[in-house]
Amino acid sequence: MDFALPPSSLRGAAGAVAIQKARRPFALDCFATFAMTMLFAAPAHAAGGGEGSVPSWAMLAYLAAGVFFILALRGLSSPATSQAGNRNGMIGMALAVVTTLVTHKIANIAEIGIAIFIGGIIGVTVARRIAMTAMPELVAGFHSLVGLAAVVVGFAAWLNPAAFGITDSAGQILAVSRVELGLGIAIGAITFSGSVIAFLKLSGRMSGSPIMLPGRHVINLGTLAAIIALIGAYTVSPEGGAGEGYLIIAAALLAFIIGFLLIIPIGGADMPVVVSMLNSYSGWAAAAMGFTLGNSAMIITGALVGSSGAILSYIMCRAMNRSFISVIAGGFGAAPDAGGAGGAREQRPYKQGSAEDAAYMLEQAESVIIIPGYGMAVAQAQHALREMGDKLKEKGVDVKYAIHPVAGRMPGHMNVLLAEASVPYDEVFELEDINSEFAQADIAFIIGANDVVNPAAKTDKSSPIYGMPVFDVDKAKQVFFIKRSMGGVGYAGVDNDVFYMNQTVMLLADAKKMVEEIVKSLD
Ligand code: NDP
Repeated sequence: MDFALPPSSLRGAAGAVAIQKARRPFALDCFATFAMTMLFAAPAHAAGGGEGSVPSWAMLAYLAAGVFFILALRGLSSPATSQAGNRNGMIGMALAVVTTLVTHKIANIAEIGIAIFIGGIIGVTVARRIAMTAMPELVAGFHSLVGLAAVVVGFAAWLNPAAFGITDSAGQILAVSRVELGLGIAIGAITFSGSVIAFLKLSGRMSGSPIMLPGRHVINLGTLAAIIALIGAYTVSPEGGAGEGYLIIAAALLAFIIGFLLIIPIGGADMPVVVSMLNSYSGWAAAAMGFTLGNSAMIITGALVGSSGAILSYIMCRAMNRSFISVIAGGFGAAPDAGGAGGAREQRPYKQGSAEDAAYMLEQAESVIIIPGYGMAVAQAQHALREMGDKLKEKGVDVKYAIHPVAGRMPGHMNVLLAEASVPYDEVFELEDINSEFAQADIAFIIGANDVVNPAAKTDKSSPIYGMPVFDVDKAKQVFFIKRSMGGVGYAGVDNDVFYMNQTVMLLADAKKMVEEIVKSLD
């Protein structure tokens, strides 16, 4: 069972570092993973697992840990309270880990310590090296490890049920435990293979274009039905009966395949939803394993990760105007022939300006709305941007920041960067709260955003981003658009009519350099 330790401890440690970079979406993930690491490890070292032997103080401690995790989630829902949220999560995690170690009287503590140490070192190193813009692929990679850990623990419990305390008086695996085992293995396998594909797509090692198999919905539904049937057959099969092993192995193999099939038809533009959906799956896999291991802390943390991931997926689907059901079914989003990256783009006339032009217009304006996007993160321009905002406010300009739910490359990406640069929270507005203000704004100042301001999402049915709510920057009197060149496009790979509008001035340069020059010109 020790093989469950390095992957999950690695992911937990990396999650802790990731929290420093991006507090919101990954924090609870990290706490849960650390706790899971210990909890996965525990039964193998215990004389008989299960909570039957757990004293009531330990049950209370697990409950308290669960409350701390909930407080962590609540705190992490706003940048202002996120540090307190982090602290609560860490307390909950420490409580769960220590309680598990004490109650299971783990003899082989050195072995666990070494595994956590090795996994921790690898995780911290990877997370420190990774750029924040590559965080989604890191998260996808680590989700795959949680899925794999769930599969491995499931098989360990199946092979050695007595050590997990899931047998009846005759030494047979309880029927309910068979269901939990089957579900844990299946969800874990789906999470593993789905996350590997998401990792490959997000990191550019595999094409981000949707791969549509003919009849994929029938294949997916058929595979799912077969998995459920196999788990059912395993549940009712007599212990040690002929083919029992084949049933559970076949269910796992089909689950690996369906994880793959579910993610390959999903296009790059829809990847944010996939990342949070896989986050949810990894939580449910852990919760199912919590039932098998008879550990309430694991059930609580798994359910928290599972449900918060599902809620986030739902919110993101709404933000991108996608149907939640079609996401779960796979193969939503861009049609195979939809315009996308690499398509030939016609040359159209546009206006180009300089930092001095922009500075002059900005200080004349009464109201400026700044729209940051992925390019701001790449350039790390947030500090220079805040300085520019401060200078404009000194000159009496009303400055607001508009955040799109999928701007950047992970949920909350822009909020984190602006908070890091100490942009006041009351100047930061969500899409639905500010979109109506563009019609009155003097200037829309776009810095490294592209898809989230692309009007094709409203007008072009063949566009891969069609249906995603976008900022109405075209309604502003003047638009400044920072990007490095006219050749580059956004994540979805589609041209943007805003570049060519009458009122748009392109500022073609690295975002940080351009904003620094504007700041100089404002002096
Ligand atoms: P986009 O990816 O659409 O556009 C990025 C823009 O930044 C481009 O115009 C690019 O142009 C410019 N840029 C890149 N580097 C720099 C730089 N150093 N200086 C200046 N400009 C730069 O960004 P958005 O934030 O508008 O949209 C996010 C997209 O990512 C959406 O399609 C979303 O679905 C997707 N996504 C979101 C995730 C999330 O969870 N938020 C996760 C995964 C994907 P150029 O190259 O010419 O400089």
